[in-house]
Amino acid sequence: MSVGSFQLNGGWIEVIAGVMFSGKSEELMRRVRRAMIARKRVQVFKSHLDDRYGGVFTVGSHDGRAIEAVPVDSSHQISLRLDPAAQVVAIDEAQFLDTGVIKVANELADRGRRVIVAGTDIDFRGEPFGAMPQLMCVAEIVDKLHAICVMCGSPATRNQRLIDGKPARYDSPIVMVGGAESYEARCRNCHVVAPPSEQSQLFTP
Ligand code: ADP
Ligand code: ZN
Repeated sequence: MSVGSFQLNGGWIEVIAGVMFSGKSEELMRRVRRAMIARKRVQVFKSHLDDRYGGVFTVGSHDGRAIEAVPVDSSHQISLRLDPAAQVVAIDEAQFLDTGVIKVANELADRGRRVIVAGTDIDFRGEPFGAMPQLMCVAEIVDKLHAICVMCGSPATRNQRLIDGKPARYDSPIVMVGGAESYEARCRNCHVVAPPSEQSQLFTP
């Protein structure tokens, strides 16, 4: 199997990383569709931690075959719901899964599967998100995609979290459930993280 300049035999891991709106899901679906055209057996998982990110989605191919993503909220669920005959295993929104996903991805690749993992590699503070950094390390191939900064039009590498239209504070939770916040793609220069609230600073050792 040739991927770009790589010649790969057996299984491997490829990671599609980048900020929100950088087209990771589009790229994952493109690769899944191509694998289906090549008559590979494909299984897609998607973290459904939050309805805004989740929801079951369907990946269709031009020959009329369609594949549904299996919603999961832990790496264990991937193991439980794995199709043993799947030759290609894709996992979307991997940043929301526990670090067990690293072992699952490695074991699948060791057993000859092509594993495609997509996820946001940095959180709203610009720091490594969940298992994504380790997944990028163990992967054979890593692609880092960029969005467009909504402020200046440069390539965006940061997720700007806004709460009531203002930059979120550093101590705001990494994963917010409930939908009170919104996100913008921004470059490093336009990305703003507000300092932690005074109350939380009192508890900083
Ligand atoms: P991801 O999975 O990385 O969040 P998606 O594949 O869901 O990305 O969405 C990518 C799409 O988002 C782009 O094709 C584009 O239509 C749209 N989009 C919205 N805002 C932006 C932005 N600031 N920069 C680039 N694309 C954007
Ligand atoms: Zn910018």
